[in-house]
Amino acid sequence: MKIAIASGKGGTGKSFVATNLSYALSENFQVALVDCDVEEPNAYLFLKPEIKEKRDITIKVPVIDNSKCTGCRLCSTHCEFHALITVKDKTYVFEELCHGCGFCMRICPNGAIGEKNKVIGEFSYGFVGRMDFYMGEMKVGTELATPVIRYVKEQVKDRGIVIFDSPPGTSCPVVETIEDCDFVVLVTEPSPFGLNDLKLAVETVKSMGIRFGVVENRAMEGVNIIKDYLRENNIPLLSEIPLDREIAEVYSHGKLVVREIPSYRDRFLKIYDEIVKRVEI
Ligand code: SF4
Ligand code: SF4
Repeated sequence: MKIAIASGKGGTGKSFVATNLSYALSENFQVALVDCDVEEPNAYLFLKPEIKEKRDITIKVPVIDNSKCTGCRLCSTHCEFHALITVKDKTYVFEELCHGCGFCMRICPNGAIGEKNKVIGEFSYGFVGRMDFYMGEMKVGTELATPVIRYVKEQVKDRGIVIFDSPPGTSCPVVETIEDCDFVVLVTEPSPFGLNDLKLAVETVKSMGIRFGVVENRAMEGVNIIKDYLRENNIPLLSEIPLDREIAEVYSHGKLVVREIPSYRDRFLKIYDEIVKRVEI
């Protein structure tokens, strides 16, 4: 089963849920944690994986041989990312805008476009006990989160439970992460900002037709802003994780709550039970 842990905004506890849930499940199941938050991956800080392999993630970017270019503009007109410009009979590449789709290389009628590799990120693979650990990280100075996420997802051995720690927000990298998942867990917090971003995330997941539920992090007695919204919209609350000083201390030391405070283990496992009930319906 593929489960994505997502949130409408950063800082709600998405990685906190992803790491603790995956670790708790790995005691009894075959689990893989895939950190797709490639701009700022941080699951490794809590899981402390034993990394076995690292490799560059590359794309093919065009190299123009201007001695063959006739200035027909076919490539620059059709590059949907505006990564090419043709001036008179010369064409220039803006590598930072190129997504490596290869279209320009295929359509040039004069064979003027070759290719070269460009490093856009790094892939890591390792273990946390019995759990598989995968991580992608964008190279500083690049903007291509989606191809990095796609590459990391292609490396995952699909066995048992795969948990994807999604980027925050609702943009293309999130869509790339969650699109083939069986279930999405949206993590939020009880505040007006939290609710606003949760609503955006709910719209995104609904539009993709993926089953989903919500975990309310830092829940407070008597503060029902999230619960009221979920009830009114018939959205399942999978679990509440209370605002707890002990959790904050464990988290701030880069440790796992399910390991340090065993009473929380069942609360995270309950999230999985709630997911299974809904995926099997
Ligand atoms: S398609 Fe080829 S020939 Fe035409 S402008 Fe581009 S590089 Fe030049
Ligand atoms: S490879 Fe694709 S994105 Fe890159 S310049 Fe060519 S058409 Fe544009």
